[in-house]
Amino acid sequence: MGNPSFDVIIAGAGIVGAACAAELAAAGLEVAVLESDMVGSGATAAGMGHIVVMDDSEAQFALGRYSLNLWHELSERLPASCEYQVCGTLWVAADEDEMEEARRKGRYYSRHQIESEILDPQALADAEPALRPGMAGALRIPGESVLYPPAAARFLIDQALQQGAQLWVGKPATELTGGRARLADGSSLAAGCTVNAAGCGALRITPQLVQWVRPRKGHLAITDRYPGLISHQLVELGYLKSAHASESDSVAFTLQPRPTGQLLIGSSRQFGPADSSVEAPLLGRMLRRACRYLPPLADLSVIRAWTGFRAATPDNLPLIGPCPGVDGLYLATGHEGLGITTSLGTAKLLADQILGRKSEIPAQPYLPSRMLKKETLNLARQPLRPETGSHRDTETQRSEGLSDSSLCTLRLGGKS
Ligand SMILES: Cc1cc2nc3c(=O)[nH]c(=O)nc-3n(C[C@H](O)[C@H](O)[C@H](O)COP(=O)(O)OP(=O)(O)OC[C@H]3O[C@@H](n4cnc5c(N)ncnc54)[C@H](O)[C@@H]3O)c2cc1C
Repeated sequence: MGNPSFDVIIAGAGIVGAACAAELAAAGLEVAVLESDMVGSGATAAGMGHIVVMDDSEAQFALGRYSLNLWHELSERLPASCEYQVCGTLWVAADEDEMEEARRKGRYYSRHQIESEILDPQALADAEPALRPGMAGALRIPGESVLYPPAAARFLIDQALQQGAQLWVGKPATELTGGRARLADGSSLAAGCTVNAAGCGALRITPQLVQWVRPRKGHLAITDRYPGLISHQLVELGYLKSAHASESDSVAFTLQPRPTGQLLIGSSRQFGPADSSVEAPLLGRMLRRACRYLPPLADLSVIRAWTGFRAATPDNLPLIGPCPGVDGLYLATGHEGLGITTSLGTAKLLADQILGRKSEIPAQPYLPSRMLKKETLNLARQPLRPETGSHRDTETQRSEGLSDSSLCTLRLGGKS
């Protein structure tokens, strides 16, 4: 490929790298994207695609709300392949404690201009009749949406290419400095600056990330087509409780209706395993939990299950900005379970820093330099807050993007 020079070289064409490429190319910069596998692979291929605002911290909420608005603005231009739909989120409360959390969450969202509505048990049963009877209620966030992440990453890369960006697929970056990207084949490209947006793969390119980012494995499963069973993205409020177990394996109920009529079932969280194989005991726990919330699931066929790795930081906020100690290298990773949602906000914040623009929300909470503070790293010993739901879509496209997927066909309720 010779030795061309670019304003910015981005490693990784997952949804975060793709969004950064689109934003930087739209600003008139000469952008090159290096992707080791295929556009929208990695966690993006494995993720659920729930565009959701979480309020575990002010900073997490600010980036989520900013990004949700950006997705709304972009939605008119998204092609049908992105399967974007504003189905709303139902945070389902199983008991009065969880209902109290639903009310707290609702008050917080209202104070911050996000529409929400408390559903009592009857209203919840009317909204989602397939849920187990006897739930305490729910919080409904009508403006949240779902999409198909690999197609969204493809769309964003195409936007960048239309603005003159260049994409090299099958070209892993092995080293990024401020002025150069070194490739696995020994060649290198010169750049004004570089961006490490390689998800969990970022750790192999920028070794100091090993102290700050840990891969967190997650499982998802998808059913055959059963149109109309649910209409919202469902998430249990107990999700927050189970995900607080930062070191132990946890599962929580999340369920997403896909336009195909399939249901995407999530999710699990594990630190430790590097192996991407589907783990039957954990998958079983996850599916049994889902059946407890939505009993009719027990009679449906799950046609595939797979795993992916979230890039988790100690404070559960992404790393967006200059990499300490390496002039000209920027980081855009560490999005854990919210990177589909926050990709667009990340791209804006990163481009603002590279271009010296004023940001719409403060960039400081996401700067990688916070990791140099002992307090931030000490958070690793405290419970991590949860992510969002998860899901996954039509077999063909889905299977292409998976880092490792295992096919399985099972009847949740034991019918074969
Ligand atoms: C089970 C599960 C459910 C999830 N559900 C949701 C959800 O509902 N909503 C939500 O917002 N988020 C969700 N997430 C999180 C979300 O998927 C991630 O945060 C997001 O995809 C991260 O995107 P990324 O571009 O940073 O990383 P990735 O998607 O991992 O992309 C990194 C890219 O870099 C490439 N790469 C790696 N190494 C190199 C290299 N050396 N050189 C060049 N390229 C390289 C990879 O091939 C890959 O394409 C979920 C994640 C999981 C695992």
